[in-house]
Amino acid sequence: MINLAQKLTEQEYEKNFAELHPPFSKNSAVAEANRCLYCYDSPCTKACPTHIDIPGFIKKIASENLKGSAKTILEANWVALTCAKACPVDVLCEGACVFIEKNEKPIEIGRLQRFVIENYFHAGMPKLFSAKPRNGKSVGIIGSGPAGLACSGELALLGFDVTIYEAKEIPGGLNTWGIAPYKVRQADSLKEVKLVESYGVKIKTKIRIGKEISFEELSSKHDAIFIGIGLGESFDLKVEGENLKGVIGALEFIEEVKAEKWSKVNVGKRVAVIGAGNTSIDAATEAKRLGAEHVMIIYRRSRSEMPAYEFEFQLAQKDGVTFHFQTNPVRVIGSNSVEGIECVKMQLAELDERGRRRPKPIPGSEFKIPVDMVIKAIGQQTNTDLLGSIPNLKIENGMIVVDPETYQTGNPKVFAGGDCINGGKEVVNAAYDGKRAAHGIYKYLFGK
Ligand code: SF4
Repeated sequence: MINLAQKLTEQEYEKNFAELHPPFSKNSAVAEANRCLYCYDSPCTKACPTHIDIPGFIKKIASENLKGSAKTILEANWVALTCAKACPVDVLCEGACVFIEKNEKPIEIGRLQRFVIENYFHAGMPKLFSAKPRNGKSVGIIGSGPAGLACSGELALLGFDVTIYEAKEIPGGLNTWGIAPYKVRQADSLKEVKLVESYGVKIKTKIRIGKEISFEELSSKHDAIFIGIGLGESFDLKVEGENLKGVIGALEFIEEVKAEKWSKVNVGKRVAVIGAGNTSIDAATEAKRLGAEHVMIIYRRSRSEMPAYEFEFQLAQKDGVTFHFQTNPVRVIGSNSVEGIECVKMQLAELDERGRRRPKPIPGSEFKIPVDMVIKAIGQQTNTDLLGSIPNLKIENGMIVVDPETYQTGNPKVFAGGDCINGGKEVVNAAYDGKRAAHGIYKYLFGK
């Protein structure tokens, strides 16, 4: 990179990556819990993809039964700490709270859940569940992200012998490597890894299927396999200059930041992030918090079509990120490293198959922006190498096709969940998939 942003002091990095939302004190948690109306039909529970009994766990906070509250939460969701901190609660549970209809502040469900689960880990993770007797069957889990952890924890309770195979040295998948540190720290994610390990789940790290062990060998060791590998590398922009130094995928960049060695992460003075999803916002705000002077998001459609949530958009604006809507990159400029980006203005034409207006370049509207770094955030590819080695998997639009009830794939012994079946949703969706798939595996092996 030609122009690197100036490194910050450790104190500045800590301040920039400090958690966005402070935790509740005990008194404030109890006061907030007492505001809940404990609605009979609890729309908040219906809006949560894991269907946590929200009034149930809140009521236990009010009566200061925090262990019971943790049990209510964790029996629905094995990665409840990450979800408490990273879930888009505005559009899920809190967005459904009845207080919204009354034009009042919804119950802060995410912060209450965080209060309970942090208290649970602080108390040394006391045993909450009794596992069924060992059933003699074993399951291999590929990937230790939220889907893999949820599936393995649930399988352990059902009496299975469970081994997770993780390619990286540190487990936790997306929760460990892919969520902005001001939302979730690696240490939070690793507590959830420890939780499933406490129920007997084994984790083998630095094992890549197809490298250290073939899928065939893995399959011969286990009675069933669950795939929870998420998605692969960032999509290429498919423009000239993409291989210049200073062009990086959003996921790769976010991973570097997640290692929390912030002074070691190089960021340009001027950064262009291509794409306007939630990952783009994470990459842009992280670049800004690392010390980049100017960070811009370039998106080919308009603001109303951007996939990022409104609160993420506002966070980026608050961080000083600027937006170029209806703009598309046509070339990355530079001789060896990125020196700029050439873009074209876009007009929005007829609706596409997903009901969004199709962007078309406006001839002659090309313009150049000087930048030192380009972050590609237009989506992620499927891990075709691994999926291609598994017989009888059906892949559609880059996603593994599964039975919606059992999560069984086209290969009866193989189950899947999380981003690799939905193309990239929330952590909470992956947690639900993993749990449901565990019961699908039980049904496959025991017929009930
Ligand atoms: S909808 Fe709101 S008030 Fe009703 S149970 Fe859920 S959190 Fe409590």
